[in-house]
Amino acid sequence: MTARPFLPYGRQTIEDDDVEAVVAALRADFLTTGPTVAAFETAVAEKVGAAHAVAASNGTATLHLAMMALGVGEGDVCIVPSVTFLATANCARYVGAEVVFADVDPDSGLMTPGTLADALKRAAGRRVKAVLPVHLRGDVVDLPGLKALADNAGAVLVEDAPHALGSTAVFGNEAMTVGDCRWSAMASFSFHPVKTIATGEGGMLTTNDAELAARLRSLRSHGMSRPAGADPWVYEMAEPGFNYRLPDINCALGLAQLAKLDRFAERRRALAARYDELLTPLGPTVRLARSPEGSRPVLHLLTVLIDFAGADATRADVVRRLAEQGVGSQVHYIPVHTQPYYRARYGELDLPGARAWYERCLTLPLFPGMADDDVDRVVDALRDALGF
Ligand SMILES: *Cc1c(COP(=O)(O)O)cnc(C)c1O
Repeated sequence: MTARPFLPYGRQTIEDDDVEAVVAALRADFLTTGPTVAAFETAVAEKVGAAHAVAASNGTATLHLAMMALGVGEGDVCIVPSVTFLATANCARYVGAEVVFADVDPDSGLMTPGTLADALKRAAGRRVKAVLPVHLRGDVVDLPGLKALADNAGAVLVEDAPHALGSTAVFGNEAMTVGDCRWSAMASFSFHPVKTIATGEGGMLTTNDAELAARLRSLRSHGMSRPAGADPWVYEMAEPGFNYRLPDINCALGLAQLAKLDRFAERRRALAARYDELLTPLGPTVRLARSPEGSRPVLHLLTVLIDFAGADATRADVVRRLAEQGVGSQVHYIPVHTQPYYRARYGELDLPGARAWYERCLTLPLFPGMADDDVDRVVDALRDALGF
């Protein structure tokens, strides 16, 4: 038997033209702060249908920049779903704001108008400045529903969208693309290698607000700006920013990758459909995470919900048995409100939706380089691991 390659839960797809694009960038005049940055920004803005895009060194940096650009600070509250990556919550803490964790729908893992309304109740009497829904796995949250509640609370909606590049949705009879910011102030993306397109490290904010875009650009580079008409050496700093720039080398890779987004998306959709078909006989012990009404995802994560107790198995056993068969898996995510830092800061909090999600979730391999029979292999390994 030939050894079959290990299937991680996610990985980049790098092809010859991606390599050539990076090599060309290395031979060009600018390794950073050159014209490829603006070219990548424009390409992303066009692809998602936003007026502006601002690149940054990674997704976490984009979230930090978003909080600074909105003037979020001490005394403010940000509402964040508990089922997300740490950075969604941490960005509020970077600027001194407090986090109120929203619960999630136990079957989709997403913040809903119901769970946001509950979080707003818990935040009552405090100044809620931002609400940061996450399009977990690539499924699109109910943006119009969340926006109505955020508006009513005087808060701004910022989409944490690293999972959802290429995802679309239809709400009522309005179609949208994630990143077009039809219902939000900004959307944040990451190009970490496991995400839908890769630049190594990298991130992007999209917005339709020219003033916000200018502020983000300034904060990304030390808070510096060049006053119009001033002498050529003159720069001004109105407030301290950071060095959160994305080099031209990474932007060149980003441009090459973005050109393949439709193909990557189609492949992800086909693989997800095959999972759906092969996993159906394993129900109700194993079910795909639920896609909410209106969402047309390009799935970043193929997450299943498993009744481990019903299958008389532990998740640790299943993860180990899958690994023995060369199948990677991951848990997205440990609810952030249970992290030691947040428990120490805010005390014990019971979020039953997040708990029910966390107890059952497991992410299986999904990336464009997988073959159809890799899906069969994963599902066979899962059958074995669960004793089907
Ligand atoms: C990946 C990710 C981030 C952070 O992006 P980095 O580029 O790794 O800093 C933030 N939020 C979510 C939901 C993510 O998946």
